[in-house]
Amino acid sequence: MKREFKIPGGPTLRCKGWRQEALLRLLENVLAVGEDPDNLVVYAALGRAARDWPSHDAMVKALMELEEDQTLIVQSGKPIGVLRTHKDAPIVIMANCNMVGQWARAENFYRWEQENLICWGGLTAGDWQYIGSQGVIQGTYEIFSRIAERHFDNDLHGRFILTAGMGGMGGAQPLAGRMANAAILTVEINPERIEKRLKAGYLEKRADTLDEALAMIREAQARREPVSVGLLGNAAEVFPEILARGIVPDIVTDQTSAHDLVYGYIPAGYTLAEVAELRKTDVPRLMDASRASIVRHVTAMLGFQDRGAIVFDNGNLIRTHARDGGVERAFDIPVFTEAFLRPLFARAIGPFRWIALSNDPDDIRKIDDLLLERFPDNAIVTNWVRLARKEVPFEGLPARIAWLGHGERTELALAVNQMVRDGVLSGPIAFTRDHLDAGAMAHPNIMTENMRDGSDAIADWPLLNAMINCASSADLVAIHSGGGGYSGYMTSAGVTVVADGTEGAERRLSLSMTNDTASGVLRYADAGYEEALDEVRLKAIGRIDTAAFGA
Ligand code: NAD
Repeated sequence: MKREFKIPGGPTLRCKGWRQEALLRLLENVLAVGEDPDNLVVYAALGRAARDWPSHDAMVKALMELEEDQTLIVQSGKPIGVLRTHKDAPIVIMANCNMVGQWARAENFYRWEQENLICWGGLTAGDWQYIGSQGVIQGTYEIFSRIAERHFDNDLHGRFILTAGMGGMGGAQPLAGRMANAAILTVEINPERIEKRLKAGYLEKRADTLDEALAMIREAQARREPVSVGLLGNAAEVFPEILARGIVPDIVTDQTSAHDLVYGYIPAGYTLAEVAELRKTDVPRLMDASRASIVRHVTAMLGFQDRGAIVFDNGNLIRTHARDGGVERAFDIPVFTEAFLRPLFARAIGPFRWIALSNDPDDIRKIDDLLLERFPDNAIVTNWVRLARKEVPFEGLPARIAWLGHGERTELALAVNQMVRDGVLSGPIAFTRDHLDAGAMAHPNIMTENMRDGSDAIADWPLLNAMINCASSADLVAIHSGGGGYSGYMTSAGVTVVADGTEGAERRLSLSMTNDTASGVLRYADAGYEEALDEVRLKAIGRIDTAAFGA
């Protein structure tokens, strides 16, 4: 059956309430904006919205029939039951891709996926929170801005950023780089991905050869004008070639799906068709080829770093695979979270977002105005909202991301719920956030690398985050662990709450938005971060300090 992937919208309910309808619309939305919806793949190589089509269809039916005092249970993208709970309980709970420690390895994941026992939900695919490349764009922009502040007198005009990967998340890079005023070159092996970003307005120019690409970058640098250029090519070939020519970009990173050696990264010397064939016939050979290619790729990144470029890992395990392939210095490259974002996370400031379920972009614009009015002194937010409303095209249901922290998220969500009640907005709004948020993720090579107290790999924190969100009446709560190349590397939690203008929504938003970020502050306070301890004092968060008790 040929499926159609339409962006939902309008006032008509197909479910028995807005909470259920909202989650159904979010499921439809992640497929409408996803990278390969026919195969239920949303982003990050294999991150799926549902296990398979029967599971998807059963989930849609269950959401349509779900009563307000029932909870739908989803195990790795497959609905397994509907149980009676109560009106303030989550209406959907999920556990996606959690394997027992010693077994949590890529080869087991691929086997169990083949046996249809499991699927990977990515972070925001399986729990229907993905909003296209716009979901990661402020994060990418903030990293470039922090680098500008620290290394380039707060100005990236005339600076050259080199990166790769224009998939679901990586596709935000060209626009984020241009918004930060740099000349950014993004290498991508799949021509369809380049076309998609050009069409979506995330990429300005396409170059057919490296010479042409470098000429475009040089010209923009000379004029100190921002530009984004996409080049069709393999990063494991293009990066070393740029280095060999003696060209040193100012900033270098990478966002290919290097985490997955089979379904993500494309090794140098292979066509996309050859890789597709090897996935079926010779997975070990493909993994070896990908690892060997990542070795070249990261060796070039280290070469740039040695020559003075600011180089960072953008959350795709590329250093880990390079180290496994013999690059001893791979971890000389810092990860973006530790290097640039940790002080924000320690205050639970992170990628908060909201989605207009009406599909009316004016709803988001009205909330933009509200943000500017409510948080005039929050420079991160006001600067971003002013830029984003001008520069970031909507993908799928109109949505906005803004890095708000503890208390701020609750304040915004409650004000928006009031706007829905007063009929100022044309429909309800769903609030959610990335899993890469203060209390929500243990990922020792990305989010929690080099934690001050050494707690990098302790997964209790995201599990506690999910439980407190359940106890705080969020509408959807999900616990995810890594799949594919991320197997065994991470555990995270996701949450969604719907502002439908009711008193019930007010209660749920107030509890879950507040406790979600509180759990983040507590996590960083426990690890000894001064910013978090300060936030605990400033905002009277109920922390127990065991150090105050006797031995
Ligand atoms: P994706 O699978 O949608 O896209 C990856 C892209 O990389 C594809 O377009 C692919 O063609 C391209 N690619 C693969 N190998 C290549 C090569 N050798 N040279 C050039 N291009 C190549 O993945 P995505 O959603 O864009 O995510 C990319 C990576 O970033 C993943 O590893 C993901 O887990 C990670 N990620 C990081 C963050 C963050 O906050 N920093 C957030 C989400 C995802």
